[in-house]
Amino acid sequence: MTDTLTGWAATTKDAPLVQMQLPLPQWNEHSVDMDISHCGMCGSDIHTLDEDWGPTAFPCVVGHEIVGIVTRVGDKVANIKVGDRGGVGPLAYSCQECDTCLEGHQNCCERVFVGTYNGNYPNGDKSFGGYADKWRGDGRWVFKVPDNMSSADASSFFCAGVTSYAPLKKFNVNEKSVVGVLGLGKLLFACHRGLGHFGVLFAKAMGATVIGLSHNDNKKETAKELGCDDYINTHNEFDLARYRKKFTHILCTGTGSDFQWSTYYNLLHINGHFMNVAAPEWKFPEIIPIQFITQQISISGSAAGSPATMQEMINFAAEKEIKPWITTYKMSDVNTAISDLRAGKPRFRFVLEN
Ligand SMILES: [Zn+2]
Ligand SMILES: [Zn+2]
Repeated sequence: MTDTLTGWAATTKDAPLVQMQLPLPQWNEHSVDMDISHCGMCGSDIHTLDEDWGPTAFPCVVGHEIVGIVTRVGDKVANIKVGDRGGVGPLAYSCQECDTCLEGHQNCCERVFVGTYNGNYPNGDKSFGGYADKWRGDGRWVFKVPDNMSSADASSFFCAGVTSYAPLKKFNVNEKSVVGVLGLGKLLFACHRGLGHFGVLFAKAMGATVIGLSHNDNKKETAKELGCDDYINTHNEFDLARYRKKFTHILCTGTGSDFQWSTYYNLLHINGHFMNVAAPEWKFPEIIPIQFITQQISISGSAAGSPATMQEMINFAAEKEIKPWITTYKMSDVNTAISDLRAGKPRFRFVLEN
């Protein structure tokens, strides 16, 4: 049977994953088939299995940092060919017709949102993720893995990597920039783990001076190992004074509920950017308009990446030889990997290997 995948599926909430045959989406002229070699594990996988974000359509195969060998392409697929290594991130489809898509921001399509798993294509077919042997989806969301990058290394770039890369690129981080990265280590939930590490690696590769930020001293050593030029404990007045008005950018990949805007306004330089990619369960505190008016601060959000950004990101990572910190598990050990992920063990991403 060529039109089925064998995946590690959740059949219900709170059950271990079991191997199951499931239908691939219907083939069309934009389709790409891949034999999956690797799939990174993302906190979103756990949120979906736990139904934290709403009901999950079981059986569900999660995993949206997929790398595999392309085995078949539809007639209209131009960006990847049979034999290439392809990568897939958290998004699997967009309408390609709305203004947002036409402007090249397909990751924020106005009409449809089809996640790489737990989603439905317009024809009603379910999307299944990368904890499996095969993947089929739309070639416009498949990206070529550069030759000088291993498939294991490549996988986690496709969600965690691009999420951190996109805002740094959008706001022109360069050798003159001083970038603070918030959320480097053991955050309250695994969802954000690994984004900060990619933020440091990418900002360094863009030439910036990079400072690790946290609300205690626990991540100081980690920040240094990752290549940060310095570290700030945001509860240490001396540290805050040293960097008063010095940051051109702050990338927030995760934060505690003790977050206060004033801390970051005071660290940001005139026209500074506070770029948020974290989605904590709590709300950010109230914004006091005068505080960000007087410093001309911009506050922004960013969602994964458009297809163009995805390809650019992986090419840049390969060119700069960025090496993510990953631990690999055999795909068949996925249930162990999930419990280790829940226990907060990744430094900084886990990758499943077929
Ligand atoms: Zn993800
Ligand atoms: Zn659209």
